[in-house]
Amino acid sequence: MRFDALVIGGSVAGLSAAMQIARARRSVCMVDACAPRNRFAAASHGFFGQDCTRPQDMVALARSQLMAYPSVTFKAASALHARAIGKAALSRRASGAGTDAAGTEEGFAVELDSGETLLAQKLLLATGLRDELPAIPGLSERWGATVLHCPYCHGYEVGGAPAGTLYAAPTSVHHAMLVGDWGPMTLFLNGHEAPEPQALAQRAARGIAVEPARVLGLEGDAPALSGVRLDDGRCVPIKALFVPPRTHMASPLAEQLGCAFDEGMSGPMIRVDATQQTTVPGVFAAGDAAMPGHNAALAAANGVMAGVCLHKALVFGT
Ligand SMILES: Cc1cc2nc3c(=O)[nH]c(=O)nc-3n(C[C@H](O)[C@H](O)[C@H](O)COP(=O)(O)OP(=O)(O)OC[C@H]3O[C@@H](n4cnc5c(N)ncnc54)[C@H](O)[C@@H]3O)c2cc1C
Repeated sequence: MRFDALVIGGSVAGLSAAMQIARARRSVCMVDACAPRNRFAAASHGFFGQDCTRPQDMVALARSQLMAYPSVTFKAASALHARAIGKAALSRRASGAGTDAAGTEEGFAVELDSGETLLAQKLLLATGLRDELPAIPGLSERWGATVLHCPYCHGYEVGGAPAGTLYAAPTSVHHAMLVGDWGPMTLFLNGHEAPEPQALAQRAARGIAVEPARVLGLEGDAPALSGVRLDDGRCVPIKALFVPPRTHMASPLAEQLGCAFDEGMSGPMIRVDATQQTTVPGVFAAGDAAMPGHNAALAAANGVMAGVCLHKALVFGT
């Protein structure tokens, strides 16, 4: 069977996109490896109508509502490879993006780890990101609990207790000043050069402490955190540490298809136009993988936009 649309990634962005396509009475197949980025957190915060809900429960509810539409197929699988076929492959070749073999029908073919190959007229990537944490012992086992990426998502739950920000770039000073609104804040420079005097003065005015020493590891019964161990032997007591991760595509599909990328705040993101279409005609992208801000509500809105625009492309062409 050839679907109107294939949505790879069945979390916030993918489910939001597929819902629009299904409600337009088009056939849509969703493929999901069931490993959303926020799976390490016990609860998701700040999402409209779903504050403090388990991420898995949010996805399960949205998926059950999507599956109520008869034109939806769901595959719990990992998509291993994607390629353009037919005219889509030819237009891709004309744009210099590659030389995939042309078939008889326009569209895309996606191979799954189950061995199945799915065909669709349009493809939507909502495959999310993978986080790479700094190589400091103790970070990964606390990720999403007491080692946090975003104060708006999890800062409130720190409860005003002393917390820290791990320096990664000059923007970390700004980040520490922001996070200072959630409680007493220490900026751990971890051996990096001290910030510019002007930034230091602003930081002092906000009451942010600075620890220049290198960070050796975290202390406490993980996932709890009791302090940060420094290379001068001291341990600074804190209850949470904000760490900016380096982000990577969770899947190689966009690269395989020849999509262009831009450099975002924390790593590459798929380049899209105002309709969420990538640089490869017929391939749309949504969610964390294709936008600078990483937040579930933003990913959902982005997915809605992608789903609507994909449907319009089915009707009017691209
Ligand atoms: C620890 C943590 C906690 C967070 N807490 C919050 C919070 O409280 N509030 C908030 O608003 N935001 C939070 N976020 C951000 C939020 O998780 C993301 O913004 C949101 O999940 C992005 O949705 P998405 O659909 O783009 O990607 P994801 O949710 O990451 O979903 C991508 C999906 O695609 C699937 N996939 C990937 N590759 C393939 C493939 N090849 N084949 C099939 N399936 C594939 C994955 O398995 C996954 O199910 C948090 C992030 C982290 C890291």
